[in-house]
Amino acid sequence: MTASAEWTARDASTVWHPFTQHANWTEDRPVVVDRAEGPWLIDVDGRRYLDGVSSLWTTTLGHGHPDINAAITAQLAKLDHSTFLGTTHTPGIELSEALIDLAPKSDGPPLTKVFYAGDGSSAVEAALKIAYQYSTQTGRSRPKFVRLDHAYHGDTLGAVAVGGHDLFHQAYKPLLLDTIGVSSPGDRALGADRYAVALADLRAVMEASGDQVCAIIVEPMIQGAAGMLDYDADYLRTARELADAHGALLIFDEVATGFGRTGKMWAAEHAGVVPDLLTCGKGITGGYLPLSAVLAAEHVYEAFLTRPGDTAPRTFFHGHTYTANPLCCAAALANLRVMGEQDVVGQAVRLGERLTKLLEPVGAKDGVVEIRQLGTMIGVEVAPVGERTGFAVCQAARERGVWLRPLGDTVVLMPPLTLGDDETDLLVNALTEAVDEVV
Ligand code: PLP
Repeated sequence: MTASAEWTARDASTVWHPFTQHANWTEDRPVVVDRAEGPWLIDVDGRRYLDGVSSLWTTTLGHGHPDINAAITAQLAKLDHSTFLGTTHTPGIELSEALIDLAPKSDGPPLTKVFYAGDGSSAVEAALKIAYQYSTQTGRSRPKFVRLDHAYHGDTLGAVAVGGHDLFHQAYKPLLLDTIGVSSPGDRALGADRYAVALADLRAVMEASGDQVCAIIVEPMIQGAAGMLDYDADYLRTARELADAHGALLIFDEVATGFGRTGKMWAAEHAGVVPDLLTCGKGITGGYLPLSAVLAAEHVYEAFLTRPGDTAPRTFFHGHTYTANPLCCAAALANLRVMGEQDVVGQAVRLGERLTKLLEPVGAKDGVVEIRQLGTMIGVEVAPVGERTGFAVCQAARERGVWLRPLGDTVVLMPPLTLGDDETDLLVNALTEAVDEVV
């Protein structure tokens, strides 16, 4: 028995994994990761896999970066944890300053305040509560959110309510907030004029119910978990106009797209639009420690400040034990420093362009329906040949030393932004051979 098989058996007896059908778990042979170096995962039997999805779209600089490791270790020697309730600390303050400095800019109101959370879902959860409470504290209760079909904003109940991914969300429908779903401009099923259809839908909804809506929430430019459904930047400009016209806030969920992933620091920059609330997570620490944040515009923050004559507190009653954990903040600061010093966004642009070129022949294959890409967010949709075709392609790539994950029949490529040329070749070659073998 291999070490991997032994650990898998032990795993199966006590562990319940996320988003996982355990009836297949053992036969799917999970990789039992022992260690990692740069873009490589190494299992307990010493087998190496190129990590083509950056863990879960997070390890943007690869694993074991010496600067991030050193920053965490130095912080650990100084302050491991201290609540953000009633006390503050220097890494939390410095990181807020750095995030506000980096935040997308336009002619409109800038993002000026940072509220920390622990993961993407909890950042979205905080943003939703902020948006609703903002409405009650600036006029009247607006209990509805507008959300896109196929959206994914996380798995806590608020985040699920603004999601539109049937596979993940359908089961929880009776528990959810009442939201208004609108067509997605990235939805290929709407046909070639999907953008016009989606815009008309959003306009109609805002005209009919805009005064009930506290916020429109979108994944800007590309719906990741939906299978990398990219869409036109104009949609975001119109969403901004409609939100303003109807007194609703605009929330950009940049949990997947932030920190260089799309070839800009923020996907918002592709459209030149700044939202009122921006959620981010994943790449914020380079994937080393769990952290996320909500960036808020000043007018949103100000609505939470006590005013003379108030009869109810305006406080945002929300937060967690580990909010702004100093180790996480130190990791994020080191990540942002490295990103700046090594022009990681520029590296992401070059990697994206190289992948576009290398993937061209893959896109021309009969078994490939479409390749969708924005920077280094890529979905290769394959034609189904039986059940779990996307998964079968990933397993075939794995046999060739490349670790990939599917979203249905879309194989996701989201490598570290700093991936070298040789590894990029390996990634595409393995995918090409896997597609040839399976579809
Ligand atoms: N929002 C978006 C756009 C995401 O892609 C994800 C995760 O993939 C989330 C939120 C949830 O983040 P987390 O898994 O860290 O809770």
